[in-house]
Parts: sequence; structure tokens; C-alpha cells
Amino acid sequence: MADLNTDVRYIKGIGEQRAKALGKLGIATLRDLISYFPRAYDDRSALRRIADLVPGETAGVAAMVASPPTISHIRKGLDLVKLRAVDDTGTLDVTFFNQAWLKNSLHQGETYIFYGRAEGSLLRHQMANPVVEPEGRREVTGRIVPIYPLTAGISQLLLSRAIRQGLDSCADILPDCLPDGVRQAHQLCRVNYAYENIHFPESAEALDLARRRLAFEELYLIQCGLLLLKKQSQEQRQGIRHRVNGYLVRQLFQALPFQLTNDQQKVWQDICNDMESYVPMRRLLQGDVGSGKTVVAMLALVKTVENGFQGALMAPTEILAHQHYEDFCHLLEPLGVRVALLSGRLSAGKRRGIYEKLAKHEIDIVIGTHALIQDEVQFAALGLAITDEQHRFGINQRALLEQKGDALPDVLVMTATPIPRTLTLTVYGDLDVSMIHQLPPGRKPIRTFVRGEDRRELIYKFVLEEIAKGRQAYVVCPLIESKEESRLSSAQDVYEELSQGIFAGISCGLVHGKLKQKEKEAIMEEFYQGKIKLLVATTVIEVGVNVPNASIMVVEHAQQFGLSQLHQLRGRIGRGEYASYCILVSDGKTENARRRMEIMESTTDGFVLAEEDLKLRGPGQFFGSMQHGLPDLKMADVERDIDILLQARRAALESVDRPEYMSRVLPALRLQYQEQFMNIMEN
Ligand code: ADP
Ligand code: MG
Repeated sequence: MADLNTDVRYIKGIGEQRAKALGKLGIATLRDLISYFPRAYDDRSALRRIADLVPGETAGVAAMVASPPTISHIRKGLDLVKLRAVDDTGTLDVTFFNQAWLKNSLHQGETYIFYGRAEGSLLRHQMANPVVEPEGRREVTGRIVPIYPLTAGISQLLLSRAIRQGLDSCADILPDCLPDGVRQAHQLCRVNYAYENIHFPESAEALDLARRRLAFEELYLIQCGLLLLKKQSQEQRQGIRHRVNGYLVRQLFQALPFQLTNDQQKVWQDICNDMESYVPMRRLLQGDVGSGKTVVAMLALVKTVENGFQGALMAPTEILAHQHYEDFCHLLEPLGVRVALLSGRLSAGKRRGIYEKLAKHEIDIVIGTHALIQDEVQFAALGLAITDEQHRFGINQRALLEQKGDALPDVLVMTATPIPRTLTLTVYGDLDVSMIHQLPPGRKPIRTFVRGEDRRELIYKFVLEEIAKGRQAYVVCPLIESKEESRLSSAQDVYEELSQGIFAGISCGLVHGKLKQKEKEAIMEEFYQGKIKLLVATTVIEVGVNVPNASIMVVEHAQQFGLSQLHQLRGRIGRGEYASYCILVSDGKTENARRRMEIMESTTDGFVLAEEDLKLRGPGQFFGSMQHGLPDLKMADVERDIDILLQARRAALESVDRPEYMSRVLPALRLQYQEQFMNIMEN
């Protein structure tokens, strides 16, 4: 008897050769094999009678071969096998091109199923190159046939036979990670039934049941993982109870050059409530770009400092960390709060200096990049950990930051990526959610235009005029260097074209991901100070950078970007008092590209754009680009399966406190989501 870790080559009927081919699909073990799900199905289950065939329609018929098949060599490289098949209602003329072997494998007097496109007329039925097999076999006809993603060297039939072997050899040992109680409460089929029917559906209903069960299982496991994560962090150590707001918070309020918007105020209230309770805060703050999350973070950090603790703010890029650092110093140093920047580019000596000060509590607030989660970083008293632009980090990185203190710090994560409501639960199932909807007052809305390549000259003339008025501009390009095979202009090319052409005599800059950190920052700094007027860039400027005087953005080859990404980019402008313009240069010809550009023109609502992105590009893409650290969903489709997601969430909530349930769930979690939920596995 096999166990699920058995190498596929040892499975009866597979062997060395096929195992190698399967390896190309990432299938190494029996478990991989049976978990390799079809990407689609072809419903060939309905059979017609010959008389009912309609030319042009694809159908299957069971018919007896009436005369021995004949073969003719039309010309070199073209053989034709012909036969006539009959049933009670009529005759069907069948031809096969270049399948000479069929002459001897199809026998007169025997019944086969022919599945293909009916041709001829209602009186003379014909089929060319149908799929054919003996009536009794029903492997590729007369049933719902799975269609698997393939690579060279493997056919559908080979793969589905291998999976048949796999399923047969593990029928008795498939563990069911769904507790019986959950399965029954949600009317889900058993694991064997699910695997059998996802690969070899008996009927459309059976396929539905199988799919529902596997999608549920997938979402349920992830939800259990997220909830266990939350539970563990809340139970393991006691949280910190902050006092009600005092002197320092009041002083910061007085120092702020503006009043909080209603939304900011509400979020601040949520955060205060959380921080003033013993239960550790686990809160997600969602707010569109420019909605003013930073000031809320600053208030929360000052609150923890006022209570005698330290705070940490982790940002995904050096540039962003640096900018936060400057904003913080500006407002907090006058209040006597000790702020430090811990970045990967500090010299080893300087970094060690900061480690020491953190450990001795000579720093109150530290701002940094991934450098913050290095082992060497230890806090004397971490009270609050904040991650900015959380979608750039994985769940684990967040967890690492949380574990930097003795007591359990409060945790706030912030993201400007508007996650469609339906996805929030999957992605952030362990967090409470607050949202900032409104932008601070006085913002001029950004106007967005889509223009063809042929208008570039006019566009850049307009940019030149705006620069003459004192503004600054971004030009964003999809690639760094030009590749021979790519017709896309690179940031490098565009920079040369513009700085030597229409913008000659105006200071231009070029920034992209391949520059050294120092070079990148020097250029950003010059742009920030207004020395550079026109900045050509790749998407490195996507996150967080704040230059209020920059009021124009031109995006070259805009159709290459996702909607959410364009929205993030566009958020770099419209941050000051000036009318702002975003010009999307696109010659995207496809319907999809055109539609996406139209949407960008018509809305500035990040949530609408995220939902559209999800519709147009699918959740795989969405997760892929937005949410590192989260598992790809194999079976569930969060758009379509929202009801399953909600049920799975409810089931998970009821399950995590039941050890007898978790004893089933944990092994499966460990196997499938080791990386995402490493922390809970260790306990
Ligand atoms: P994000 O949410 O994208 O991180 P920021 O926190 O960077 O946004 O805020 C964007 C800009 O809005 C900053 O320049 C900030 O000073 C300003 N801002 C934030 N809150 C307010 C407010 N209530 N009134 C006016 N301006 C504000
Ligand atoms: Mg921000």
C-alpha cells in the first residue's frame, strides 16, 4: 500500500519514463499527482443517435462499424482511413487523416463511440477526425472529460491514466482534513468522493459537489491558519494596556498643521480603544493613496511612547522609510521624542549603534525597512509595531516584527492597496479592519486622460508648459533597458529622448530599480527638493513617495500595467494644491486593454479599480501581484465562491477552539501552507 509521499515512479503502471514527464508538471509524489486538478472539463456525456446529429454541432454517437475500414494514400504524408458506422437510425461516414493505425484497430461489427463535429447534411452524416474509443471504455468519450494543463511530452490521456492509477492506489489512505462535524454541517462530500469526481466526474452534479468540497477545504484551511495565528498571538503572552491619551498625544495634535478628517478621527478612536485594552491590537488600516494614514500611525506611535514603550514602523522601501523618518523628525523632535532610521544601507558600525540604543531604550521610535526584522534587532520595550504598505510584506514578516518584544506589542498594518471587500477576509482574516474613505480637504481631483502614441509630442509640450509654471512631472515607463525583441520604449530610452530633445535645458532625472540604493535616493532627494523637474522612472516610485509640487504624470505604455498599479502610481500626484493631470499613453489594441484604460479615465476610486482588476485579470493575478506571502488558491475562486468563503470562515471560527478538530486540520496546514503559517506550526 502506498503512502501519499510515495514517488510517482513506484506507482503501478507509471514507471521511470512517465515519472520523468510528470516531473515537468511539478508532480513528484502521489499527493502531487492526485492534487493536480483539471483546469476545465469537456462534457461529452450526452450521446445522440445518428439521425439526430446536426451539422456544425459537436456530439458523440455510439455506432457499429459496418464495413472494414479502408485506407488510401492520397499523397506523400497524407493517409486517409474511412469507415461507415451505423446505429438504428442511420449511417455515419467517418474519415481520419494520418491515423493509419486505426485501420487495424477498429473492427467491423464492433461498437465505438465517435465524438466530434458533425458535418455533411441532415441526410448524409459525416465526421472527420473524431475522438474514438470502444463503447465500453468511456475514457475520453461518453463522460465528462477532464482537461489538464499540460507541457510537452504529456498527453491528456497519459495524465488522466496516471491519475487514475494514483487514485486507485491511495483510495484507502486519503486523510480527510475536514472534521466530520464541519463536513456534515456544511453538507460537504467525503474526501474520496471529492478527489474521484474532481478528476473523473460521474455527472455534472457530482463535479459540483466535489468542487464545492475542495474549494471549501482550501478556504477553510487558510481561515483556520489565520485564526490560529491570531489566537496564538493573543493567548501566548499578555498584551499591553495603554493608558488614555495624555500630554504627548495632545502636544502632537497641537503641532499638526491640520485637523484630522472624520474618517481619520474614527480610525484613531478604533486604535485607541484597541491599544487601551489588554487584548493585543491586530488591526488593518485600509485607506487609498493620499488618504492620510501616516499621521494616524504617528499618533499611535506617540501614544505608545507616552506610555513608556518603543514603537516601530516598517516600510517596504528605503525611500519611503526615509521620507517617513523626515516627517517624523520634523514633528516629533521638538516634542523630545527620539526617532531613528534603521536602513540596510547604514554602515555596520552605525547599525550596531542603533541596535544598542534600541536595546537600552535610548530610541523611542524606529523607522526602517526589512532591516527591522533582522535577528540583531531587539527592543527594550516594544509597544507597537506598524507595517506600512502591508501588501508588500508576507504574513511571516509581519509576525517577525511582532515578536521583537517581551510583552506582546500592539500591531497595526496599513495598506493603500484597496483589497476588494470579498478578498479582505481571505487575505487578512486575522485582523480587524478600519477604513479611511475620504481624502483630506482641499485636494484637487486628479484628471486622467488616455491618449494614443501619436499624441506624444502634444503631451510633452503640455508637460513643458506646466514645468514652466513651476510644477514637476513624472514619466513612468514599464521597462528599464530596451530589449531587442520588445518594442516597448525603456525608461533609459525615454530619458535620453526627452532630456536631449524637448526638455533640453531642463533638469531631468532617471530612476529605476537597477540603480544602487544610494544613487536612487540621491535622485529622489533632488526631485523632492525641486532641483530635478522631470523624473523618468520605472515603478520604483509606486509606493508612498510624497512630492506635493509634482502635479503631472505621464505613463508610457500604460496598458502594460494593472489597474491597481496605475492607481498607486497616479497617487504620486494630486498631493498638493495644484490641479493635477495623469496622462496614460496607450496604443493597446485589445478590447481588454481599451476597457481598462477607460476605467482609469472614469474613476479615481481605488476600490472600484481593484474590483475591476479582479474581474479583468482574475484572482490569481491579483494575488500574484498584490499579496506576496499568501498562498495561491488552487480550487477556490474568491469572486465566484464568496458564499463558500463566508461559510468556511464561520466554520473556522467554530473550529479553532476544538482540539479534536484541529488535530485534523493542523497536519494539512503543515503540509500545504508551511511557509505562510510557519509560526503556528512551531507550537
Ligand atoms: P497615505 O495614506 O497615502 O500614506 P499620507 O499619510 O502620506 O497618505 O498623506 C498624504 C498627505 O496628506 C500628506 O502630505 C499629509 O500631510 C496630508 N494630510 C494627511 N491628513 C490630512 C488632513 N487631515 N488634512 C490635511 N492634510 C492631511
Ligand atoms: Mg503612506
